[in-house]
Amino acid sequence: MVSYRNKRSNFLKVKCVDCGNQQIVFDHAASNVQCIICGKTLVKPKGGKSEITAQIVEVMD
Ligand SMILES: [Zn+2]
Repeated sequence: MVSYRNKRSNFLKVKCVDCGNQQIVFDHAASNVQCIICGKTLVKPKGGKSEITAQIVEVMD
């Protein structure tokens, strides 16, 4: 279980649900973040908070 705090920005290690690639993303991204392998959108900007469309593996501090 990954604890997830909403009040601060975090770097997240996410796993692409399509190809299994893992990469680090910022959870307050200002623009779409895509998988470097297959191009699937992993993070979408949504107001202040981003919508994570990939599986979160780890929250980095
Ligand atoms: Zn991918």
